[in-house]
Amino acid sequence: MTEEGTGPLPVVAVVGRPNVGKSTLVNRVLGRRAAVVQDVPGVTRDRISYEALWNGRRFTVTDTGGWDPKAAGLGAAITRQAEFAMKTADVIVLVVDSQVGATDTDLAAARILRRSDRPVILVANKVDDERSEAGASELWSLGLGEPQPISALHGRGAGDLLDLILDSMPEAPREQEGETGPRRVALVGRPNVGKSSLLNRLAKEERSVVDSVAGTTVDPVDSIITLGGEDWRFVDTAGLRRKVNTASGMEYYASLRTEAAIQAAEVAVVLLAADEVISEQDQRVITQVIEAGRALVIAINKWDLLDEDRHMQLEREVDRDLARIKWASRVNISAKGGRGVGKLADHLRAALASWESRIPTAELNQYIRTLVQETPPPARGGRAPKIKYVTQADVRPPRFVVFSTGFLEAGYRRFLERKLRERWGFDGTPIEISVKVRE
Ligand code: GDP
Ligand code: GDP
Repeated sequence: MTEEGTGPLPVVAVVGRPNVGKSTLVNRVLGRRAAVVQDVPGVTRDRISYEALWNGRRFTVTDTGGWDPKAAGLGAAITRQAEFAMKTADVIVLVVDSQVGATDTDLAAARILRRSDRPVILVANKVDDERSEAGASELWSLGLGEPQPISALHGRGAGDLLDLILDSMPEAPREQEGETGPRRVALVGRPNVGKSSLLNRLAKEERSVVDSVAGTTVDPVDSIITLGGEDWRFVDTAGLRRKVNTASGMEYYASLRTEAAIQAAEVAVVLLAADEVISEQDQRVITQVIEAGRALVIAINKWDLLDEDRHMQLEREVDRDLARIKWASRVNISAKGGRGVGKLADHLRAALASWESRIPTAELNQYIRTLVQETPPPARGGRAPKIKYVTQADVRPPRFVVFSTGFLEAGYRRFLERKLRERWGFDGTPIEISVKVRE
């Protein structure tokens, strides 16, 4: 699903205390008003990323806004922000308000960023005219080199700043920390669907369990298994390897464990049993995966227990029971007999590719524009909202933000999701669509 040239882009992180003009600068970089987005409804996050283009080069701008100074204290929040930027960004832009001068919080941020092995660009913002340039020079005191005077609001100096950012950017973005090594898989499902049997089968068939040894870097609760020529880290499998009897009343702990495994993974395989109807408990596990925003593969196990004419019937039942996740990739297996198990790696790979796919902004908007012309959002209270712009704000999973002049009803959002899937597939991954209302 990932196309050529849509791999990871260099990341520029914009940091600074509140009100220095970070969002205004990000808007300036993006060349549009649309991006003052610090809160995606329903999603708690402390950063949002946008794709930008300058002089023919594409990169990602991360606005580290939306923090809660009350919760952590301004000093702690900026420390977190700066450290996060140092871990994830290729270029860091520290924004300071030149009309205010360097505050203690700015100093705290600068102190941390001086240790950065990434380039750090110090921006003296709110230099709206020549007279204010003196305020900018005072910021030399932060020890981050020459302050770049700009006015994010009026655009003064913005072009020079962008040139400097591009000059500081590495040709190829570095790999994200914590994202190297084998892909992380959670094997989940209610008790007795066959999780232990599948894990044992995979381990045996491939004969390459690198079992955890104390003192190695492998987390002792994980198993690394080679499937389809690639290593995979099956997270939190200790309990599956030495199967403990799940007494009643343990269900609560089992579900916490499931949640932890899903959180630790990039893709989850939810096992269902072919000889039993899909239960509420099965649906709950599926919902956990979707809500965590992980890629999803459904494996229907114990296929060997069904005879031929039951197969078709079961497929229909599953279609009906899983209608809400038509997009999930599905594989029929028998952990016991080994049937279908060899196909698992391809399903994992496909789901992860969708999970990471990024749609170029121009292509996305071109498609949505045509779509909205054909089927505009329905009017509410006499006025129909107009969709102005769509952007893919994030990957893993794909998240889209729709800028509209009014609220879009759930029905219309579902329509948009269906159409995005019709066009780009996204098989095996949940996608999120949120709406920002702008006049
Ligand atoms: P953030 O909290 O760091 O994202 O800051 P905002 O981008 O929301 O900006 C805070 C305030 O500063 C807003 O009222 C902006 O209009 C204003 N502002 C931002 N950049 C400039 C600038 O270059 N000059 C002036 N005079 N005001 C600015
Ligand atoms: P877990 O609780 O999800 O780890 O499930 P287990 O792996 O312990 O399996 C529960 C029961 O289902 C055991 O009796 C297994 O032998 C049986 N089982 C697991 N996979 C299959 C399969 O593919 N076919 C059949 N017929 N039985 C299976």
